[in-house]
Amino acid sequence: MDAKSKEAWATSRGLTESNGAICVERLLGRQCRHRDERDHLHSIPGSDHATLWCRDGAPAVYVSQPYGMDGEYLRALLEVCDAYGMSCFVDAWPSWHNPGSVLSVFVWKKGTQGPWPSRRESAT
Ligand SMILES: [Zn+2]
Repeated sequence: MDAKSKEAWATSRGLTESNGAICVERLLGRQCRHRDERDHLHSIPGSDHATLWCRDGAPAVYVSQPYGMDGEYLRALLEVCDAYGMSCFVDAWPSWHNPGSVLSVFVWKKGTQGPWPSRRESAT
């Protein structure tokens, strides 16, 4: 675990780690009901070492850090993003769970800021 890169990423994005359920549907303004509903999208396909991040107190970015992604995983990820109105991005940084060995898969509600620095922060 590389706590420094995790902290640096979160600070640069104005994000704080959620204390609540690590749940994809919370990005969409819904409550986590994965114990009650079968069609509840609690996590993304192939999710590993997942965390959920808030901006201004609201869930904004879901991060999964898997060791790799095969074609089935990628297809399923894109399918749930399309079905639920979400965007995704895959990066090598900041893969804090095991830097150099895992990827970072970011998922956020389409049309929102997502895992990017705000304009004001990137301008300074
Ligand atoms: Zn859930």
